[in-house]
Amino acid sequence: MPGSCDVVVVGGGQGGLAAGYYLRRAGLDYVILDAQSQPGGAWRHGWNSLRLFSPAEYSPLPGWGMPRQEGEEFPTAGHVVDYLRAYEQRYDLRVRRPVRVHEVRPAGERLAVETDDGSWLARYVISATGTWDCPYVPDIPGREEFAGRQPHTVHYTSPEQFRGQRVVIVGGGNSAAQILAEVSRVAEATWVTLRAARFMPDDVDGRVLFGVATRHAQQGSPQGVSDLGDIVMVPSVRAARDRGVLTAQPMFQRLTPLGVAWADGREQVCDAVIWCTGFQPNLAHLAPLGLALADDGVPTVGTRSVDEPRLYLLGYGDWTGPASATLAGAGRTAKATVAEISELLRA
Ligand code: FAD
Repeated sequence: MPGSCDVVVVGGGQGGLAAGYYLRRAGLDYVILDAQSQPGGAWRHGWNSLRLFSPAEYSPLPGWGMPRQEGEEFPTAGHVVDYLRAYEQRYDLRVRRPVRVHEVRPAGERLAVETDDGSWLARYVISATGTWDCPYVPDIPGREEFAGRQPHTVHYTSPEQFRGQRVVIVGGGNSAAQILAEVSRVAEATWVTLRAARFMPDDVDGRVLFGVATRHAQQGSPQGVSDLGDIVMVPSVRAARDRGVLTAQPMFQRLTPLGVAWADGREQVCDAVIWCTGFQPNLAHLAPLGLALADDGVPTVGTRSVDEPRLYLLGYGDWTGPASATLAGAGRTAKATVAEISELLRA
């Protein structure tokens, strides 16, 4: 039954589970509330061909690394979901689902966590709700007038949705490059980016990124891995380059009823615009706390909110620690967060 405990973790994806691992080890009274009916967090929703950038052994949560997937060097999203399911069972983590947190608000010395399954009172709240539920689409003129489809990355499952169509793919990151690589095999695809696309060297995959992120963390640097480029050259993206389709046009100025139009007067008719334009942190449940918002998230010291010191934030992006929204990086920030909370509770 809902009640009170030391720590309520909001979100049961990889970030919430990593927090659960350390909370359990510290012997704290905690609960993880997750809105989904099954384990896996955002990994349950990626497109059909989505894979990790790195072999399984480079994507460990604390305590127990991801087992290899037979016959696959780079695990599928389904394998990650299986791993997360097995992980929470292995450590008997206290996860309740489906439980959606509607709001977190001050309640005297505690924080009240209001859910669709009752209220919790917590000394500390760790928010780990990810970004997948908050797709970002830029406010481009004409979006209402365009007669075609406008899915975001979160709606994309496979290229078959676009077979034989004229498709404009917007975005300069990995989602755009990977979706372009497969859609361009079955459709007439145009790639559009706001800035020139920055490709990583061919030999940089998750293994190298893992090493760089680890080094930054050891040096106490808040930097992520973006210095190396934005797009990992996974096999499908390299193949797209070899086919000559990895050439981006500058961003168009507006949508028209029939397609897109550039500032120089050029227009292109299309059936769909796929917005691979990223995500924003999912923080709606924190609105009653009145937190200031910075450009990339909530101001924090480490993972602790500056405005509400009983609140910690895990994952979301590098603003909560280097690579904190990756499988390999989640454990590092979760460990530091729980150590800090344990210390405060002891005091
Ligand atoms: P999520 O996985 O999104 O989990 C958040 C959970 O919180 C969800 O279950 C959600 O339902 C729940 N929730 C949300 N709101 C509420 C609420 N109000 N109340 C209760 N529960 C709530 N990382 C890697 O390490 N390697 C990769 O190769 C890699 N590839 C990626 C490819 C793509 C296309 C994307 C988008 C990401 C990739 N990542 C990769 C990044 C990263 O691993 C994921 O973004 C990861 O899912 C973040 O984990 P999380 O636990 O912070 O959030």
